[in-house]
Amino acid sequence: MTAHPHSYHTHKNCAQMLTQLNDYADHTLPADLCAELEAHLGQCEDCQIVLDTLSKTIYLVHRLPEPEQALPQDVEQRLFATLRLEEFLVA
Ligand SMILES: [Zn+2]
Repeated sequence: MTAHPHSYHTHKNCAQMLTQLNDYADHTLPADLCAELEAHLGQCEDCQIVLDTLSKTIYLVHRLPEPEQALPQDVEQRLFATLRLEEFLVA
């Protein structure tokens, strides 16, 4: 792992936190960043709302009655990636 090229704020904003959700969900986020993300989510109401919305979306997608109707995984991932970004680009 290389040093972060940009000045590194100890207090990241919500958008930065949420961009890490992809890696977090994929279990590719380093443990220290996972802890940081979890700590942020634990105290940030805005992020909790986003996370709750995402969880419901994921829940609904996985509850589609017929397996054939389920979204292909790549489409699903793109959908989630878009949702995550949209939440914060419009804010
Ligand atoms: Zn936040």
